[in-house]
Amino acid sequence: MDYKYLSKDEGIYKAIKAEEKRQSEGMELIASENYASPVVLEAMGCVLNNKYSEGYPGHRYYGGQEFVDDVENLAIKRAKKLFNAEHVNIQPLSGSPANAAVYMAFLKPGDKVLGLKLDHGGHLSHGHPVNFSGMLYNFVQYGVDAETGYVDMDEVAEIARQEKPKMIVAGYSAYSREIEWEKFKQIADEVGAFTFADIAHTAGLIAAGLLNNPVPFFDVVSTTTHKTLRGPRGAIIMCLEKYAPQVDRAVFPGMQGGPHDHINAAKAVALGEALKPEFKVYARQIITNAKVMAEELANKDYKIISGGTDNHLLVIDMTNKGVAGKETEILLDKVGISVSRSTIPNDPNPPMNPSGVRLGTPAITTRGMREKDVIKIVSLFDKTIISKNKAAELNKIKKEVKEFCLRFPVPGI
Ligand SMILES: *Cc1c(COP(=O)(O)O)cnc(C)c1O
Repeated sequence: MDYKYLSKDEGIYKAIKAEEKRQSEGMELIASENYASPVVLEAMGCVLNNKYSEGYPGHRYYGGQEFVDDVENLAIKRAKKLFNAEHVNIQPLSGSPANAAVYMAFLKPGDKVLGLKLDHGGHLSHGHPVNFSGMLYNFVQYGVDAETGYVDMDEVAEIARQEKPKMIVAGYSAYSREIEWEKFKQIADEVGAFTFADIAHTAGLIAAGLLNNPVPFFDVVSTTTHKTLRGPRGAIIMCLEKYAPQVDRAVFPGMQGGPHDHINAAKAVALGEALKPEFKVYARQIITNAKVMAEELANKDYKIISGGTDNHLLVIDMTNKGVAGKETEILLDKVGISVSRSTIPNDPNPPMNPSGVRLGTPAITTRGMREKDVIKIVSLFDKTIISKNKAAELNKIKKEVKEFCLRFPVPGI
């Protein structure tokens, strides 16, 4: 990007230019990351940042809202259409605050909630003891089947009947399989629990119609807007119309003050982009790339949790390769490949140094990489692991990664 004004702030300008170079020359395989379009970036840098607009369209606590209302209404309209939602709140600042608002809307502190274990692919905000969710609510947890790596729906039903939670949470951060929303709904109905889907990771794939959509029949659904949805950092909450007042009240004034109107404009832009036919093509390629990545890795004797993927990500157990998750992450960083360490189900190692890594294809797909490029990426990945103690070899791979990546421009750079 061309930073006409920012270039005068030398310190920040230098860091941003260096980050641009890093993003251009590096291979982004972190499953939660993506490159927003220049249109999204432009909206994020606009004068809407200057506005205070506590409240909702038509009901604000400040004057001068006519254009902010247009922005928010448009974002809501696009999200409703994209996800087939009855009600949308566009204001949550990010995924974790959105989830805090969801719990606040449906629960009281101390209420029982059923969520997936963190080391099985769940999120911090689904009841981890170090997170507000685990501190305020009484989470009980289900897991994935140790053999198959799939969520064990029989176990979910069993725990739900035993524990009678007030809410059941599904939707994960490191789970590569389709989620059985309908079964979750049946179980929740049987025990009288609210259904909450957190589709932070897969929203773009759901929006494209490639994964099942819980929005029309779950009580409440949250999603980030910056992962597969490729928008600004932020989140939205969708719910059935009957819960609209309590959800809106929980977001504002419950959790937040003034909304970030510039970010909400960027959310509207991203939602508009996701409604275009090209987005479906993009989302389909994300999944194709992930499947090819899983197959190629399996061919090289990497152990993929659940044996493959239905979505944009996969988790590898690195144990048989003689490197743990953190070591793999650091090693790959040396050659310009970004991945994130990840726990594996029932991980014997601690979360700071777990046994696996998580890879995802949303970012490389945005740059235009396809099946044959994924094959190349896996060969670079594997060469790096094999060359772990060979500095000269790692240097050579780093050059190769850079040359390869520079063939695929990053949007906005
Ligand atoms: C990423 C993620 C979030 C949190 O998003 P932040 O914007 O980082 O707070 C919440 N839930 C799930 C399942 C996620 O993967």
